[in-house]
Amino acid sequence: MEKKELIYEGKAKKIFATEKSDLLIAEFKDDLTAFNNIKKGNEVGKGALNNKISTELFKILEKKGVQTHLVETIDETHQLVKKVEIIPLEVIVRNIATGSFVKRFGVEDGKVLPFALVELCLKDDTLGDPPMCADHALALEIATQEELSILKEMALTINSALQPFFAKVGLNLVDFKIEFGRDSHGTILLADEISPDSCRFWDLATNAKMDKDIFRQGLGDVKVAYEEVLNRILGAEK
Ligand code: 5GP
Repeated sequence: MEKKELIYEGKAKKIFATEKSDLLIAEFKDDLTAFNNIKKGNEVGKGALNNKISTELFKILEKKGVQTHLVETIDETHQLVKKVEIIPLEVIVRNIATGSFVKRFGVEDGKVLPFALVELCLKDDTLGDPPMCADHALALEIATQEELSILKEMALTINSALQPFFAKVGLNLVDFKIEFGRDSHGTILLADEISPDSCRFWDLATNAKMDKDIFRQGLGDVKVAYEEVLNRILGAEK
């Protein structure tokens, strides 16, 4: 499948058309951004790592019955995906309080939440991805009630599959952000990526951060951590 015209460029990926109207090519970029684009960086090889990590995780999720946009890996930095209309919501699942949750609610950083919390943010960089509730999404006509229920159920299924998977390889899945899209039949598919750019992983033995917080907080070498996450995923029993 050949790359045709660029149809979208985000902070971490470029999306290209293909000769097939229902398929797209996603290119994983080496760029890193944080704090709504205020901090910018580039790590050669980061895109390839995220492509591999996300592909492995999407395959695990497909086996658990989660429908995703992934069709196949093309090469180091490209994957073939089903065309979807992205629902402009960032669906965030939190197992442990940290990040913006701690800033907003003043609870202790690292507090284990009593249940997996599903949050919604509007996917809009110009507005700073504001947190919203389901009624906001309904009032803004971003998704229907039925779709919102499906998103929540899929988000919790994904967490139930990934949290124990990562625990087995010594990683604490603290929180993560996912995005969904509708295919041409209106079926909701997991889209975008699941990678250390969009998840928080803490080493279960040392509590060391092994995700984009290393870049956000200037804690060290992002790529070393991403490589370690990939190696643990590849070494895991699936
Ligand atoms: P927080 O709301 O605490 O900043 O982030 C919660 C989780 O969602 C973290 O794992 C974080 O990496 C992810 N997340 C939140 N917003 C974004 C975003 O705009 N882009 C990406 N890649 N991840 C995000």
